[in-house]
Amino acid sequence: MTDPTPENAQLDPIPQPEALEQLRVIYYPDPRLRKRSKPVKQFTPALRQLTARMFELMAAHRGVGLAAPQVGVNVRMFVMNPTGEPQDANVIINPKLRDADGEAEGEEGCLSLPDIYGKILRVTELTLEAQNLEGQPIELRLSGFPARVVQHEYDHLDGTLILDRMTPSAKMNARKKIRELEEQFAK
Ligand code: ZN
Repeated sequence: MTDPTPENAQLDPIPQPEALEQLRVIYYPDPRLRKRSKPVKQFTPALRQLTARMFELMAAHRGVGLAAPQVGVNVRMFVMNPTGEPQDANVIINPKLRDADGEAEGEEGCLSLPDIYGKILRVTELTLEAQNLEGQPIELRLSGFPARVVQHEYDHLDGTLILDRMTPSAKMNARKKIRELEEQFAK
């Protein structure tokens, strides 16, 4: 048992730099993927180092987005790079989505649900309000694929997975893979 001081109790649950090497992408049905994550309050060097590690893991898995809960850290932050070009890399902290417009279905996968894909209905245009690594406000109007990536990653911060948004028939098709993941996790 630990006896956190009031200051310690209020720290964001960010891993210390020496623990970053051990971070891995976690898979469904890990319960950390189902939590509602907490806002980031401290914009520290440890937060910056965590995002660097997340970019590394995202690239290693050929992802276009990775949310902190997917590495077992339940804070409201994600990294994304919809094109893979260095200038399109973005760290998004404490996001809010507003002024949604349009709707379209598109195929999505998730690094926490390997080999499962399904068509997901998303808005096609939105405004993203968030903070950057310095804690400064950022605002972006996004459409198309980047808007889809943002909605997918935002969902992770509330514990929502593509499984919850797939049509019943898409979920049927993925049934075998879902069961395999559940069996692997149970081991
Ligand atoms: Zn995902």
